[in-house]
Amino acid sequence: MKENIHPKYEDSEIRCACGNVIETRSTRSRLIIGICNECHPFYTGTQKFVDTAGRVDKFQQRMAKTEAARAAAAGRKKKR
Ligand SMILES: [Zn+2]
Repeated sequence: MKENIHPKYEDSEIRCACGNVIETRSTRSRLIIGICNECHPFYTGTQKFVDTAGRVDKFQQRMAKTEAARAAAAGRKKKR
């Protein structure tokens, strides 16, 4: 290995929102993820709802804003 050109490769801990912890090696010592093989429906075969940081709420708020903006834009077009 050439010196001073490789990133630091160290023991790493991956933590999932479901509580699962995976020990591995990476250039990052800690990774926080929202979904893993322990809780993804593809692997579990069952639907389980994991809303880590109100992401669904945020999405719905964004959606409502977009709808309102679209309605406003449509309203402006009709007036012309
Ligand atoms: Zn998980």
